[in-house]
Amino acid sequence: MTRILLATRNPKKLDELRRILATENVTGIDIIGLSDVPDFPEAPEVGATFEENARAKARDAAQATGLPAVADDSGLSVDALHGMPGVLSARWSGTHGDDKANLDLVLAQITDLPDNRRGAAFVCAAALATPAGEETVVTATWPGILARKPRGTNGFGYDPIFVPDGHTVTSAELNPVEKDVLSHRGQALRLLLPYLRALA
Ligand code: IMP
Repeated sequence: MTRILLATRNPKKLDELRRILATENVTGIDIIGLSDVPDFPEAPEVGATFEENARAKARDAAQATGLPAVADDSGLSVDALHGMPGVLSARWSGTHGDDKANLDLVLAQITDLPDNRRGAAFVCAAALATPAGEETVVTATWPGILARKPRGTNGFGYDPIFVPDGHTVTSAELNPVEKDVLSHRGQALRLLLPYLRALA
């Protein structure tokens, strides 16, 4: 088994990558998280782009642990806000990780906008870094429009207000497997699979 570190403490992200590897029949890889390795100093996310943040997180994790490391950075890019909250998605309301306040602020900011100006996309960059210093970064987007009120209880973050293109439900009304198939993170992680397979 090749151990690959997913640089996260979020059990849902660990499950997601494990599900994707299983669905795509990638064997010989054991995905572990940051809680499974000794603590190391984790730098704050200060990059201007998702790619920069994902790359820095993967590189730091690979250097600190000596394991190949995958990291992702993602967020919501709202057309009417010129791409924001973007890399600031998790702390848009001023409090890191307050999903409800972040979502309420975005809804308030675009209250008066008609449907044709409510376009948005989830974006995810996923990076793989090896202890030898090789780095790969991929990016995927999931376009949609923003609903007027939150709907659904699955997922997290902005899912209750994101209606993916081609759907009438929000991404918080999709089940996790349906979301994996469509989502920015699912797509980005699948783009990394050839590189992960090569390590197995
Ligand atoms: P991070 O990549 O885990 O730092 O996530 C950044 C932020 O983007 C999260 O806190 C959410 O607010 C938002 N976000 C990223 N991916 C999703 C998603 O799949 N659904 C809903 N919100 C998301």
